[in-house]
Amino acid sequence: MSGKVPVIIHDEGVVMDIELGEDILKKNTDQAKENRKSLDQHHIKAIDVMGSIGSGKTSLIGTLCSRLKDKYKIAFIAGDLTTTIDADRVKMHTVETVQLNTGKECHLDALLVRNALNKINLKAINLLIIENVGNLICPAEFDLGAHLRIVIVSVTEGPYMVVKHPYIFMGANIAVINKIDLAEAMDVDPDKLVKDALAINPKITAVKTSVKTGEGIDNLIKALKL
Ligand code: MG
Ligand code: ZN
Repeated sequence: MSGKVPVIIHDEGVVMDIELGEDILKKNTDQAKENRKSLDQHHIKAIDVMGSIGSGKTSLIGTLCSRLKDKYKIAFIAGDLTTTIDADRVKMHTVETVQLNTGKECHLDALLVRNALNKINLKAINLLIIENVGNLICPAEFDLGAHLRIVIVSVTEGPYMVVKHPYIFMGANIAVINKIDLAEAMDVDPDKLVKDALAINPKITAVKTSVKTGEGIDNLIKALKL
């Protein structure tokens, strides 16, 4: 085989899909605005944490919460397809934890977050951390009403995770390059991942972390202005 790799673009039914998609996204954006308004009224800062399954979202959130639990009253919304494993791992550091099982849905949306917020006493918290469903594609499209969006990639996911997912980096405020303690073993250069993220979104703040050694956690807390 030589020459260019053929690219097949699926275009059947595109018109209908786009219309449906726009309607869904518009409703989501409106709901996200309402969520943000209600969070602002309660002086709650909300952070949406995105990343693939296995990128270390839950461990990082657990570390952040254990470091911040004396300074903030934290609520945690754990998005997951079917399990409560993540919720159980972070729960002890929070005032309240709500599990959102999305079933087959591969992302959280603003209405799901609203439903979770309805179960939380918003007067009792001032920091909300949302763990999105493990996926680097469609969460990018769905604003949840958070104030900051973090996207996590780990060196264990290989050298191309950033360049292959430009949309999620375009819409994020902070890029976390995680598991840097394994960079050498994986033969992946964390600085290259930082460079890739900045090339996609020059405004993004990139932080290199290791939950295992604690490296970079202070920088992340600083980047989150917490
Ligand atoms: Mg998780
Ligand atoms: Zn999805």
